[in-house]
Amino acid sequence: MAEHESLEFGKADFVLLDTVSMEEFMANLKLRFEKGRIYSYIGEVVVSVNPYRAMNIYGRDTIEQYKGRELYERPPHLFAIADAAYKAMKRRNKDTCIVISGESGAGKTEASKYIMQYIAAITNPNQRAEVERVKNMLLKSNCVLEAFGNAKTNRNDNSSRFGKYMDINFDFKGDPIGGHINNYLLEKVSGWLGFHIICVFHLQLLSGAPDSLLHSLHIKKDPKAYTYIKIGGQIKTSINDNADFKAVADAMKVIGFTGDEIQTVYKILATILHLGNLTFGVDGDVTLIENTKQVSVIRDLLSTKEENVEKALLYRTVATGRDVIEKQHTTQEASYGRDALAKAMYERLFCWIVGRINDIIEVKNYDARIHGKNTVIGVLDIYGFEIFQNNSFEQFCINYCNEKLQQLFIQLVLKQEQEEYQREGIPWKHIDYFNNQIIVDLVEQQHKGIFSILDEACMNVGKVTDEVFLQGLDVKLAKHAHFSSRKLSPTDKSLEFDRDFRIRHYAGDVAYSVVGFIDKNKDTLFQDFKRLLYNSSNPVLKGMWPEGKLRITEVTKRPLTAATLFKNSMILLVENLASKEPYYVRCIKPNDVKSPLLFEHERCRHQVEYLGLLENVRVRRAGFAYRQTYPRFLQRYKMISEFTWPNHDLPSDKEAVKKLLQGCRFDHDVAYGKTKVFIRTPRTLFSLEEQRAEMV
Ligand code: ADP
Ligand code: MG
Repeated sequence: MAEHESLEFGKADFVLLDTVSMEEFMANLKLRFEKGRIYSYIGEVVVSVNPYRAMNIYGRDTIEQYKGRELYERPPHLFAIADAAYKAMKRRNKDTCIVISGESGAGKTEASKYIMQYIAAITNPNQRAEVERVKNMLLKSNCVLEAFGNAKTNRNDNSSRFGKYMDINFDFKGDPIGGHINNYLLEKVSGWLGFHIICVFHLQLLSGAPDSLLHSLHIKKDPKAYTYIKIGGQIKTSINDNADFKAVADAMKVIGFTGDEIQTVYKILATILHLGNLTFGVDGDVTLIENTKQVSVIRDLLSTKEENVEKALLYRTVATGRDVIEKQHTTQEASYGRDALAKAMYERLFCWIVGRINDIIEVKNYDARIHGKNTVIGVLDIYGFEIFQNNSFEQFCINYCNEKLQQLFIQLVLKQEQEEYQREGIPWKHIDYFNNQIIVDLVEQQHKGIFSILDEACMNVGKVTDEVFLQGLDVKLAKHAHFSSRKLSPTDKSLEFDRDFRIRHYAGDVAYSVVGFIDKNKDTLFQDFKRLLYNSSNPVLKGMWPEGKLRITEVTKRPLTAATLFKNSMILLVENLASKEPYYVRCIKPNDVKSPLLFEHERCRHQVEYLGLLENVRVRRAGFAYRQTYPRFLQRYKMISEFTWPNHDLPSDKEAVKKLLQGCRFDHDVAYGKTKVFIRTPRTLFSLEEQRAEMV
């Protein structure tokens, strides 16, 4: 139990609840939120509730209070988990990782920043210049990634639309010497088209760029002039956009982007805006672009020939056997192609930026990499379980990701517990829990899994429709305990529409609509666009599109599908996390109106459920609720026993703790390990705390 906290703030550790029930959990969470205690524990997991107000708990003095202390010595805080991860890395030479999850707006990105800030503050005591440089790079790269990877949404003014995993490498002194970023960009995060094409930096560019730059990009300051911004509903600019533009532009420079690279970045962003304003019409049976002036602008920005831009937008080249023919788009196909191009350019730009940042921040010093003791702390900031009114491919991917993380969590928490018991020589008792591997398999298994069935449907020679996909699911998964559909259970009321299927996730049932699955899974960018961009005379742009090199007749292999790419990246991510010692932060969003006062019970209960927090408490309590090393235990409780106060004359601290607990008649609830005492039920600990409170 965390010290220095009185029970008027509720229980600092949910493991100490009298009974594990949703009601008790929620009551405690609410009480703590209302008392301004936004952090709590479940064992060593931090539960965080977004305060939606500035909290005076991240300053230098707070950092000092957590530095080098044990987790339970101070009230729950992100700094405690950051310190634990850092200590494990430094003292025990372990790679560690901090997994932060929760829904959009729950506070994940803020949490990851506080964690980074803490690590930056406690390292490099000798102010080595090289380490300071690395720290600065890591912070600056964050700023750039956020500007390009975030969007303004109704839910969150600065919503990350990508999951981010960042490794920080440390040298033998425990100082940061480099890093690496992996991003998990979800293809189409929202139903709105504009949302995944327009980033925060677009708006900063419009309002903050000098006139000369805007002029050269043929861009107007007014966001309303751009269709993609309008349909994305991101018109709302902020007073800071101006200064932010400069900050991001400077950050790119400091990180080491060349002048040409930065110019190309601007040009791509501008091209995206211009593309969005293109409209198509028909003249007889010819499809044409209505605003030809825009086409010239785009040609200039992309350094391609004008006729190439126009052609790529209006025709697609198809190989039929040995013949190559040019097929004219309908206006509908042309609009579709235009949007796919804008989206692909944005995504490619983002991935390229991540790649460039990685080139620059990776550990350069060969000696340090090969010979030195080089350990890692990874920080994962990733969307939690998501369930909306309408769930589609994106939610399916996100929820699959969370099944994977849950699987890892179960394995690791149980494994850690098991190992600790072994180390301490305490007999292991089997813990009963729901193993969600069956759901992970349902999604990712070769041939039989939903991703495979989806890929198969996409490769169908005849009709490629969402319905074909659904039929495939119905046939192959008819008997699966965690799968259901309208066809399989016609009377099920939770399946509202014919095109829904339902997965019984570890965290609850979710109905997904198959509409759009096929389209979102396929690489929908016409080859012609890839060739167009590859043939640019701007080497930076050209370099982003290497696959455009292939001639039409050489393109034989289908590009990997979105599902396969996502699955592969999740498998790698989990493998990577599994090799590290994990720490967890679970973020909860208390309301949808960004209010610091409102604790919406139903909204929070939902999140507690989908984050699997009760299960978490149960697993933790199935073993021992509390454990402490003998000396520390004595330090806290020695005053309640005549044998140990003020000092004991027993042969060891272990013997002293035994004597103390026997004296209180708690012996039955306790196991004595080699270095730690284990207490099974929280009640015992309360009694100890109460007795202590009477004495001091
Ligand atoms: P997520 O990354 O989970 O989508 P963010 O970390 O971007 O959410 O948080 C959303 C907003 O909530 C932030 O912009 C900030 O205003 C507020 N917020 C989050 N965490 C905190 C915190 N610890 N203290 C104060 N405000 C916070
Ligand atoms: Mg975020």
